[in-house]
Amino acid sequence: MPEAAEVAVAAGQLDLVAAGRPLLRLDVTHPRTTRAQPADDLQRFVGRRVDGVRRHGKWIVVTFDGSDEELGVHLRMSGQLLAVPPGTEPPDRHVHAVLALGPRPDHPVLASGTVADAPDPETRTAVPVPGPQAGAAGVGPGPVDVWFRDPRTFGEIRRLTDGAPVAPDLFDGRVTADVLHDAAGRRRVGVKAVLLDQLRSVSGIGSYLADEALHRAGISPVRPAGSVDRAAWERILDSARAVATESAAAGGVTLPDEGWVDLWGRPGRHGPALRVHGRDTCAACDALTRRAVVGGRSARWCPRCQRANRRR
Ligand SMILES: [Zn+2]
Repeated sequence: MPEAAEVAVAAGQLDLVAAGRPLLRLDVTHPRTTRAQPADDLQRFVGRRVDGVRRHGKWIVVTFDGSDEELGVHLRMSGQLLAVPPGTEPPDRHVHAVLALGPRPDHPVLASGTVADAPDPETRTAVPVPGPQAGAAGVGPGPVDVWFRDPRTFGEIRRLTDGAPVAPDLFDGRVTADVLHDAAGRRRVGVKAVLLDQLRSVSGIGSYLADEALHRAGISPVRPAGSVDRAAWERILDSARAVATESAAAGGVTLPDEGWVDLWGRPGRHGPALRVHGRDTCAACDALTRRAVVGGRSARWCPRCQRANRRR
């Protein structure tokens, strides 16, 4: 499932592609994609110029000129945004919405020639998305379509009237060790559950970011949240931000059973750098990893590198 790093990649690339362009059409072909409101509600954005795209937690937030309302995209389990030449025939039945964007007259990014993320055909890798690949058309000045492809249909597109409906983002300055320490209070639930709760104190952390951050911080995910002291929360927060930054720089993580790809259909390259998540042995010390369910979600940790009960 895309987490802060992957969503940062998608939002950043969508900003490169969409900022400055008019939204010509928003075609929705699966009712679940727009389940938060009547599909017609989203037509209010058609004809407006995209101002920019940002990330908040796991939400991709699109802002428009002259509108206080924003368009939120959540990829959830299997959602993908893919930039393709206009009118490209979808390769399968999983493309549930198309944002048709008009030409971009004089976008500053194009003018300065710094479209660093536009892949040249040589470096494009095999993608799990069948059918035609998008290339330069995704960042050229001509029109472009952006597909919302979502095989499992947990993802959604939603009209936002008051920003993303989640807690402050992982990189928001309001998220501090004190905030997390207070949120944990005397709770006996595993510390990982506090990190995954998108609504309470921090948003953007998913399963692998939590596992990896806790490994770096030397704390087991099953340790009761209320037993983690302030200094340890500081380590956890710093680690989560570091892992997210490193992962985003490498295009994110594409696990074997998941379909994360960027706007040009490229899988993430950070997976091999993970130390415990999805691994049978710890990459740091070779010990066998352990698994447990914490707050309804799977957690993985190294019993040698991460202590469950002892205070450090
Ligand atoms: Zn270890």
